[in-house]
Amino acid sequence: MVTEDQVRIDYINDPELQRRDIRLGMLRLDLLHPVISGNKWFKLKENIKAARDQGHTVVLTFGGAWSNHLVATAAAARAAGLQAIGIVRGLHADTATSDTLQQCRDLGMQLQTVSREAYNRKEDAAYLEQLGLQFGRPYIIPEGGNNEAGMRGAGTIAGLLPGDTTLVTLAIGTGTTFCGIRQNLAQSCAMLGFPVMKGGDYLQGEIAARLPRCANWQLEARYHFGGFARHNPELITFINDFYRQYHIPLDFVYTAKMMWGLLELAGNKELPAHSHIIAIHTGGLQGNRSIKDQLCFSLPG
Ligand SMILES: *Cc1c(COP(=O)(O)O)cnc(C)c1O
Repeated sequence: MVTEDQVRIDYINDPELQRRDIRLGMLRLDLLHPVISGNKWFKLKENIKAARDQGHTVVLTFGGAWSNHLVATAAAARAAGLQAIGIVRGLHADTATSDTLQQCRDLGMQLQTVSREAYNRKEDAAYLEQLGLQFGRPYIIPEGGNNEAGMRGAGTIAGLLPGDTTLVTLAIGTGTTFCGIRQNLAQSCAMLGFPVMKGGDYLQGEIAARLPRCANWQLEARYHFGGFARHNPELITFINDFYRQYHIPLDFVYTAKMMWGLLELAGNKELPAHSHIIAIHTGGLQGNRSIKDQLCFSLPG
């Protein structure tokens, strides 16, 4: 199923980086599996294990019409012999037509579309209790795999990084992956996170609260391109150029924004010379289905 030894590091050979003695590699978590890709696998694996250990036969989780997490959960649950329920944020134009949701159904996930108001209660105890009764006491995984087990699983990504890494960068949604890695990485190695939603600076306090004993991390919130899943023609051109040059496919929601930001910082000499930087390719390529006609490469799987 998912074998973590598929993961490798690809180095970006850029003359400007080489001149400043910066080695920049991408940790290719996108290669894990075509559907259960990237960081979603790491956040799910401990949750799936907990669900089984606690004797559950059903897992329930939440997501939007193009959610990487929803489809990864559908595939991981199926592989583990668990039933999966997906609560989908509704009243979204794509809910009826999304290829991601169709794939969830094809993987056997039962979907229930709910109103935005109901969806916004996804962390309320009373709402979860009601869903629990409705769906036969499932193991509930929060949206994006954002819980303790998710963070613990994400922490194991740290073990895939070379020992002489000086800076680790990744895109941030909930921050679960970032926090999990920070907790498991040597304090001497710096971390830089790129929130992909508008106003991502609010995550500063949230992440600090989750990392009481960790230092040496920073957020760079300027590269949101207008907001979560927003994009412009320049970003699409960047994704296509990056693929032609390095043969690495990026997704437009997360990894492309991070790489754009990282290369811009490098160009402005805002990254330390004589360093070994690992940018984490957190996967998410299935999300490119919503813009597939604009890309020069095909989707995995
Ligand atoms: C979900 C996702 C992220 C964000 O992960 P968090 O743990 O929520 O911060 C980053 N990259 C990709 C490709 C994702 O699918």
